[in-house]
Amino acid sequence: MKYTDIDIVIDQENRILKRQHNNLVNQVRQNEQKLLRIQQQEIRFIRSNSLSDLICEILENYRLEAGLDHVTLSLVDPEYELQRILQETGANLADFPNLLFYQTEQQLKALLGQSLAPGLGAYNVKTHQFFFPSNPEQKGSVALLPLIRQDRLIGSLNLGSASRERFLSHTATDFLQRLAAIVSICLENTVNHERLKRVGLTDTLTGISNRRFFDQRIEEEIARSIRTSSPLSCLLLDIDFFKRINDTYGHQTGDCVLTDVANVIQSQLRGSDVLARYGGEEFSALLINTDTKDALEIAERIRECVASYKHHFNDQKQLEVTISIGIATLDRGANHDDIKANSHLLVKNADQALYQAKENGRNQTRYFAHIPE
Ligand code: GH3
Ligand code: MG
Ligand code: MG
Repeated sequence: MKYTDIDIVIDQENRILKRQHNNLVNQVRQNEQKLLRIQQQEIRFIRSNSLSDLICEILENYRLEAGLDHVTLSLVDPEYELQRILQETGANLADFPNLLFYQTEQQLKALLGQSLAPGLGAYNVKTHQFFFPSNPEQKGSVALLPLIRQDRLIGSLNLGSASRERFLSHTATDFLQRLAAIVSICLENTVNHERLKRVGLTDTLTGISNRRFFDQRIEEEIARSIRTSSPLSCLLLDIDFFKRINDTYGHQTGDCVLTDVANVIQSQLRGSDVLARYGGEEFSALLINTDTKDALEIAERIRECVASYKHHFNDQKQLEVTISIGIATLDRGANHDDIKANSHLLVKNADQALYQAKENGRNQTRYFAHIPE
């Protein structure tokens, strides 16, 4: 068969088409891979079971997975609620330099631009430095993704790449918009989850933590104390002759006194300490990294503050109450394998010391463990 010019042209066209076809197939495969990676990342976001886990997932794991140079997260936090949740769940905000907080939606909106569409393009120090305060001199391109829930701007996810081609202003943003939507939902869900946990772990009268919270935290703190070989002291604080207050002035005045006492005790503790209403007119506190000697000093300070506090009720009248305090410190010689047994023993010992304080005449502090020389 003779090879004509037409055959040559058809052959060339065929090769071009085949190449185009191969390119398309490759692109589809690449997109499939990309989608799969995004889906796996989404699952990791959804699985995060606390706000700090989710934030770590976004700022660290996602940055590495996505091959980005800088990832920061801006969050609108008007009542410092998110910062409080993070601190109360043991996170140190200083460990999150790429987590940025804004007091109002307007402040963040002003930086993002009013359109609230994903902003992609070359890095520009003037407009982008606020989103990357740790790396204001970076080069390359950025994508600023507004995070929106129920028509409200809740934050922005800020991605930075050293490559100028990574985020071009005209490229499609479907994947990034989807990522922003998932991150927004996950943020809302974890914050709601933390709120629910807090409701179930807070005493409604005094506003401090309840016994359930204390029982959880004592085990965590004992584990930490053993791990770090640091002392942990437990205080049980009981209002003296509280029944008389109810009987004399009524239970509503009793309720106010309880709340006042909780506030006075709280005011004398450090942010890292744990205070809870243990039950009735009894409070419990965990003093982190505190030996018996220091715990005794803190307890005496609390006792004196409570004793000198004037509780006002029925406009004019005022009354004073005292508390008795029992202290126990985690014994280094205890069987450290059993956290539950340790927590039980620690509270039992503090209770025994409290009993002695009551027996000795109230308005005083007693400790169970010996103070080391
Ligand atoms: P003691 O010095 O031995 O501790 O004497 P006490 O009167 O404080 O101890 P007691 O256990 O006899 O009485 C505690 C009282 O606290 C009885 C209870 O009605 C009251 N109480 C417990 N919870 C609340 C509360 O939420 N509000 C009010 N107003 N009273 C409460
Ligand atoms: Mg009492
Ligand atoms: Mg009591």
